[in-house]
Amino acid sequence: MLKNNLGYPRVGANRQLKKACEQYWQQKITAGELIQTARLLQEEHWNLQQAAGIDLIPCNDFSFYDQVLDASLLVGNIPQRYAAVVTDVKGNTELDLYFAMARGYQQNGLDVKAMEMTKWFDTNYHYIVPEFTAKQEFRLFSQKLFAEFSGAKHALGRVPKPVLIGPVSYLLLGKEKEAGFQRIDLIRKLVPVYIEALQRLQSLGAEWVQLDEPFLAMDLADKDRQAYEWAYKEIRKACKGLKLLVATYFGDLRENLPLAVNLPVCALHLDLVRAPQQLAAALPLLPPQLTLSLGVVDGRNIWKNNYDASLALIQQAVAAIGTDRVMIAPSCSLLHTPFDLEAETAIQPGIKNWMAFAKQKLQEVKELHAIAHGATELLAPNQAAIAARSTSPLIHQAAVKARTAAIGPKDDQRASEFRVRQELQKQRFKLPLFPTTTIGSFPQTDDIRQLRARLKKGELSTAEYDAEIEKATINVIRVQEEIGLDVLVHGEFERNDMVEYFGELLNGFLFTKNGWVQSYGSRCVKPPVIYGDVSRTADMTVRWSRFAQEQTSKPMKGMLTGPVTILQWSFVRDDQPRSETTFQIALAIRDEVVALEKAGIHIIQIDEPAIREGLPLRKQDQPTYLDWAVKAFRISASGVKDDTQVHTHMCYSDFNDIIEHIAAMDADVITIETSRSQMELLDAFAGFRYPNEIGPGVYDIHSPRVPGVEEMAALLEKAAQLLPIQNVWVNPDCGLKTRKWPETKAALINMVQAAAKAREVV
Ligand code: GLN
Ligand code: ZN
Repeated sequence: MLKNNLGYPRVGANRQLKKACEQYWQQKITAGELIQTARLLQEEHWNLQQAAGIDLIPCNDFSFYDQVLDASLLVGNIPQRYAAVVTDVKGNTELDLYFAMARGYQQNGLDVKAMEMTKWFDTNYHYIVPEFTAKQEFRLFSQKLFAEFSGAKHALGRVPKPVLIGPVSYLLLGKEKEAGFQRIDLIRKLVPVYIEALQRLQSLGAEWVQLDEPFLAMDLADKDRQAYEWAYKEIRKACKGLKLLVATYFGDLRENLPLAVNLPVCALHLDLVRAPQQLAAALPLLPPQLTLSLGVVDGRNIWKNNYDASLALIQQAVAAIGTDRVMIAPSCSLLHTPFDLEAETAIQPGIKNWMAFAKQKLQEVKELHAIAHGATELLAPNQAAIAARSTSPLIHQAAVKARTAAIGPKDDQRASEFRVRQELQKQRFKLPLFPTTTIGSFPQTDDIRQLRARLKKGELSTAEYDAEIEKATINVIRVQEEIGLDVLVHGEFERNDMVEYFGELLNGFLFTKNGWVQSYGSRCVKPPVIYGDVSRTADMTVRWSRFAQEQTSKPMKGMLTGPVTILQWSFVRDDQPRSETTFQIALAIRDEVVALEKAGIHIIQIDEPAIREGLPLRKQDQPTYLDWAVKAFRISASGVKDDTQVHTHMCYSDFNDIIEHIAAMDADVITIETSRSQMELLDAFAGFRYPNEIGPGVYDIHSPRVPGVEEMAALLEKAAQLLPIQNVWVNPDCGLKTRKWPETKAALINMVQAAAKAREVV
């Protein structure tokens, strides 16, 4: 019974990789220094897994930015527009090309945007979307895979298991950049390059290779299924000696199960946390040579494994196919969990004993393996922790449960329908056509972050801290007035993070010191842990919004995070339905919305960037989720008067399949991310004749590139053709907290000019 691991968090216990990458981008360290940091981290992580007794230790799960972008470089899928980064700039290397694709490149006379980025299935990790053209060619390009394999082999003194995105999933993750072909048809061109890579690995000594095919747990077209059959048959023929492990995760294989178990590979990994029931379905179908990797340790959450439940699955598998054909593993890559629980010295011990991070999850795999081999003394402490959690008074608050149980049919309805509200709001705010605004945050400079650090350390009193935040807020208001924006924001300087800030003020949440999880590139988030019933005891944002409104005669937009996003970006309870937790949060946010209105804030944004990512991956499961998610948003937004304008904001989303539900949220204004896709994302709104107001983002905030007036004016023109003009707002794609001041000002000045141009045209 081998102990298998699918992938390990790469950023480092202290986010070393993040820091090194950012220093490299600012040209504060050399490529050599960056690579050295990466190598040390990799070695540390390999050794850690070795120490935990993991038999199949992954390599190539490391990435400087994103594993899908790595795959694009491996197979030489580099859009033509990036070629100049290496051909025209002396001294630029593959690494610079790579970062240019990830982040855009605006130096040395070149100006090229970053590639599109989107969410990795239903996680908060983002990947760089591969682009495909009709005449797409592939060739083995980057050597990173081989270097990492050899490096791991050398460091460990044994053979690691390289991890690659499987060829079918790689194609399905991408998008066609022109009409007239289907990317899945490129499989015939792609597989030979995979074969070349696999043969090369084999010649370097590889034994097991993991090919991630998460799409096997998704809805597939017939063509996709045929691609699977063909691709793996070809790979099998060409790479006879290699042991291939196909990894699926994030769901139930359902109708794809027969396809998956019959792929000519040595092992199949199943996510038994998301879908424990698929084990029983799979066992009778397994051909005799196939090994099953049982993903029993939750790679998506921070709760301690329930050993009894996991052992039941392990024993079920062993009884059916024998010990030799069973592996024990986490459910998916541990990329989505924080590094080490031991570093968390401030979590109440009672609760900490219910939890496990990546490092602890490796131990869980080890212990489950040991228990399965007779070390039953390891069971009792685990059973005690699980039992303590299920009955703890820290978790259950009767009043909170009573309030969600009492939610009635009126609680998710505004007083009047949108048309009526829009009229009242037009009268009240008298905004120009194409009103300009921003999404909320302004640059969180080191100075601002320092303030918070100093407050935490006690070097700054709350009064001193508040005074500094007030200064920053006044400054951002003056900046916005000078630039000429129509609806202002307070800048969110008092917030560490849009979810953490609220979690810290709500009951039922706890926080980690160092529980970072990669979100995209060097960006990490530190999700709160929702461990108990959620409630609000006091105002959370009123003080700052009121202060900001007092500084200006322009409307100040209040800024809240929506219930679904708070849920989605937290580690959530696994002891009650997600919907129940979300309704608890929705009621707390509703109370805050009402408090803001009372305090004189009449435009209130409730951010729900995560609504789309919470969508279940299978069509069949989506309606139920959308019903409760939309309802939760509406509950949070429906406590205010008709002439209070509720905004919402969403990013990185393809809205096509959920547009009617977005409309059902009935926000007066929605701002969305659209610029990276050249307004393509707006088609869904146009096609649906979306009735409410929309601000399609006119520039990408994920890169320091400053967009020109013409460029944004052109996007606005496009938007104005697609939507009723009186409904169009002008704003960036998302919040500006990750940007620096100079580019922020420059971009917003251009944006306001673009809006002025658009007004002239009509
Ligand atoms: N109001 C938030 C901000 O501007 C929204 C961030 C987000 O959508 N991720 O930072
Ligand atoms: Zn956003």
